[in-house]
Amino acid sequence: MNKWEQLDKQFVWHPFTQQQEWVRTEQLVIERGEGVKLIDTAGKEYYDGVSSLWVNLHGHRRPEIDAAIRAQLDEIAHSTMLGLINKPAGELAERLVKLAPAGLAKVFYSDDGSTAVEAALKMAFQYWQHKGQGQKQKFLTLASAYHGDTIGAVSVGGVDLFHRTFKPLLFETAHLPCPSCFHCTLTEQKEACPLLCADALEAILAEHHESIAGVIIEPLVQAAAGMLLQPKGYLRRVRDLTQQYGVLLIADEVAVGFGRTGKMFACEHEGVTPDFLALSKGITGGYLPLAATLTTREIYDAFLGEPHEGKTFYHGHSYTGNPLACAAALASLDIFEQDNVLDGLAEKMALLSSYRTRLAAHPAVGDVRQCGMIMALELLADKEKRVPFPPEKMIASSVCRAARQYGLIIRNIGDVVTFMPPLASTTAELEAMLAALERALLDVFSGAAVRANDGCAF
Ligand SMILES: *Cc1c(COP(=O)(O)O)cnc(C)c1O
Repeated sequence: MNKWEQLDKQFVWHPFTQQQEWVRTEQLVIERGEGVKLIDTAGKEYYDGVSSLWVNLHGHRRPEIDAAIRAQLDEIAHSTMLGLINKPAGELAERLVKLAPAGLAKVFYSDDGSTAVEAALKMAFQYWQHKGQGQKQKFLTLASAYHGDTIGAVSVGGVDLFHRTFKPLLFETAHLPCPSCFHCTLTEQKEACPLLCADALEAILAEHHESIAGVIIEPLVQAAAGMLLQPKGYLRRVRDLTQQYGVLLIADEVAVGFGRTGKMFACEHEGVTPDFLALSKGITGGYLPLAATLTTREIYDAFLGEPHEGKTFYHGHSYTGNPLACAAALASLDIFEQDNVLDGLAEKMALLSSYRTRLAAHPAVGDVRQCGMIMALELLADKEKRVPFPPEKMIASSVCRAARQYGLIIRNIGDVVTFMPPLASTTAELEAMLAALERALLDVFSGAAVRANDGCAF
């Protein structure tokens, strides 16, 4: 065990991790990054197959982003946005508004996905008070939703494993059926889906819209739930219904934003402008923590008034709009333009698609899901009868662990193996990653791989 592993195991508590297992298991210490690879202290290279938990877009040590951060560092690392302006925050806000679905006009900064969601929830709640409809207080959320780990974000979450412990601390929400096509029990018509999952929303809105402040949704893909895909038209229907019933829509694109689905923002696939758009993860290209909650002029205007009128939005964080992070984000957006990143994705997404049938042929792979550059394999003990593996087998975790031998870092969520490579990965790199994944899968089910798990649940 090297010095860093020893220090970690002695002093550090990891996120989403059972530490008892963690300290017993051999762990990697990442020292450097190079393109889409991570390099450990032993000099071994691994593909960053989950983009360092869904954040990295253009690879590590991108010269343009490195340079932008250094240039900003020569001016100032941080100054507060409470009472002062910094240069990159305004420039970035303009760029984000231009890129975002039409109608989103204002940018409120925070530090991570959870706070971007919290800000949206609080703004939605306060908005109705300013509109003289303070009885609109409830939020609707999807079953299996994940919006972050702070208490407000957990309140609108629905991943039982993560959230049940904190139930007594949470505010009450109503849950809509999870619109996951693979797990759908509402209809057999997968081709011409009648969107019965959205009918539940209509029923609730029709009866209770007067007490409902907003609906929060991860558009297209419920990521942390296991990359669950929604039927085409679902998001559009949710937007139409929320508009019809005077309920605000919060789109949490923390995971799916910035090109992951093949378009800059997932909402674009269905021509939707939400009332709030929560962004983080990829916003800085995966370099520094930053988040933004975008909203409309209508919402912003409702908060205008004299100081004594009590319309101010009392929310903020010490590092709000951090200049280094904003500079990184601007450089990331420049790369999108200069490298035509979105245009270049078509070929990469087609490559991922071409592996779907092949991976799905494996006896333990129940479903292969893909949306743009997001892919997932749901493992099942019995595909026909849809029987899961016993949870204690940690089967998907073993696959991820085995992939490391072939130079690929990926993570599982329960029995789902997830794959979300940096957008910058070349087709050759993607092929190498998928080949490693396939070999790991074969090893685990042929018994060649040592079953292992590092205690990390996410
Ligand atoms: C990761 C994630 C969050 C939380 O973001 P953090 O930066 O971890 O706080 C919120 N929503 C979605 C959809 C996410 O994937």
